[in-house]
Amino acid sequence: MNESPDVIVIGSGIGGLTAAALLQDRGISTLVFEKNRYPGGSCSSFQREGYSFDAGASVFYGFGENRQSGTLNLHTRIFRKLGLEVPTLRDPVQIHYHLPNGFSLPAHYDRDAFLEALSARFPHERAGIEKFYSELEDVHDILSSLPAGSLEDPFHLASVGVTFPAKIIQLAVKTFRSMGKTARRYIRDEELLKFIDIEAYSWAVQDAVSTPLVNAGICLADRHHGGINYPVGGSGAIPKALCQGIEKSGGQIRFQSEVTSIIVENGEARGVRLADGSECFAKAVISNATIWDTFNHLITDARYKVDENRFLRAPSWFQLYLGVDASVIPDDFYVHHILVDRWENYNQPGGTIYFSAPTLLDPSLAPPGKHIVHAFVTADVDEWEQYDRKNGAYQNAKEAFAAKVISRTESILPGLANAIEVKVLATPMTHQRYLNRFKGSYGPLLKPGQNILQKPQNTTRIKNLFAAGDSTFPGQGVIAVTYSGVSCASYIARQFGKPLDELI
Ligand SMILES: Cc1cc2nc3c(=O)[nH]c(=O)nc-3n(C[C@H](O)[C@H](O)[C@H](O)COP(=O)(O)OP(=O)(O)OC[C@H]3O[C@@H](n4cnc5c(N)ncnc54)[C@H](O)[C@@H]3O)c2cc1C
Repeated sequence: MNESPDVIVIGSGIGGLTAAALLQDRGISTLVFEKNRYPGGSCSSFQREGYSFDAGASVFYGFGENRQSGTLNLHTRIFRKLGLEVPTLRDPVQIHYHLPNGFSLPAHYDRDAFLEALSARFPHERAGIEKFYSELEDVHDILSSLPAGSLEDPFHLASVGVTFPAKIIQLAVKTFRSMGKTARRYIRDEELLKFIDIEAYSWAVQDAVSTPLVNAGICLADRHHGGINYPVGGSGAIPKALCQGIEKSGGQIRFQSEVTSIIVENGEARGVRLADGSECFAKAVISNATIWDTFNHLITDARYKVDENRFLRAPSWFQLYLGVDASVIPDDFYVHHILVDRWENYNQPGGTIYFSAPTLLDPSLAPPGKHIVHAFVTADVDEWEQYDRKNGAYQNAKEAFAAKVISRTESILPGLANAIEVKVLATPMTHQRYLNRFKGSYGPLLKPGQNILQKPQNTTRIKNLFAAGDSTFPGQGVIAVTYSGVSCASYIARQFGKPLDELI
């Protein structure tokens, strides 16, 4: 064990692992502490009774093959840099939306097919649809030509600014715009604006007006470029490969090692203290925990406390991991679905059902003749804390809640309830406990009107303490936290006098 690495990383989420892998590859030694037995956090896989379930994420961007320099296709670029292969399977549809009033629309990889299907439902908005989605394309075009780096690194900013001055100005202007307000410039139809809302909600868990245009430009345009690709072996294949990258060049990941506090002396992070009482010191510490867990738990000095009202706190999740008889899934079924029964409550707890059947792409995740259905809805931890675990009330509430979600999902998958052979249920308390995430939250969200650049970046108020993951810019999502890991590593590497090579 190298007990005095250059950099300690708290947590093996995708943000933390990406930063560690790139630093280690650059010759900056890293040691990752992870409280669980496995890596990946919300992007891990777990096994039960012959099934391999995705713990959270299963819609993946970033595996496109475009070799153009830029901030997109980051998984491809990073694994290329680390000399690793992560085979993926192309998903022809990002999400199949099932919306009120019989509105059913698959978001095809083929942009023309998607826009045509949307315009067929709203022929009077054909021109507005084209203009709105072209705005997203513009953002995508800019981002795919700018190299990835830290927005806090003056060298990076200067070099990008000199090379791409016009694009930087255009992007800066766009950071002030919201997706919903941009849509309202071109579109009047209320149902279509609701659709734009669910397009935002599907990954941002906020309506379109609260969602920055720049984030939308990545997710809703890149699905037609790099596309959605599923890693063979499931979501856990991504963290597994990042761990291989770290270990290959001499870094370490220590599992079942919970960090209980960050050692801060004279305003400077020196190392970490672990649950077994041991201490480990380094020149820099990266926290992959949420902003609330880092500053309100791991750091005990009240001066650094983060006001809970600084951001909106996204809800947590109630999740159902189901092993089902394959006969319940129709042959022409797409992998990822979103189901809204009533527009009035799509953004209320439990209002939208997300579900995926990843075994349609990778059958090896389930025993022969079986499929996986992973369904989840937003939920709040406070509602679940009231149930007593000792008298069975918690278990009964879980079963009752799951039965309602299954019954609603039957509108798309008739016979689902009777096809279930394995059922694993997770409440927001499970999410909180497994991932050490404050209230099991999906993470901090910007308040309406806040600029995306107001998201915390990688440096913190404590010298040599850095942050990566979904509490930092640009936000939630596996590809977004990958970007945060790249920018964090790039900033630290520059500080260590060993700047990272551009990802190509
Ligand atoms: C239900 C669900 C569905 C999702 N679907 C998608 C999707 O389809 N596509 C997509 O792109 N994104 C999706 N996401 C979002 C995405 O998974 C997350 O935004 C992203 O994985 C978060 O990464 P992170 O780096 O912030 O770390 P996290 O995933 O939060 O991981 C942090 C890690 O740090 C560890 N840790 C925390 N504190 C400590 C400590 N003190 N000591 C040691 N270890 C610690 C935790 O155990 C965990 O392993 C989904 C998320 C959820 C919950």
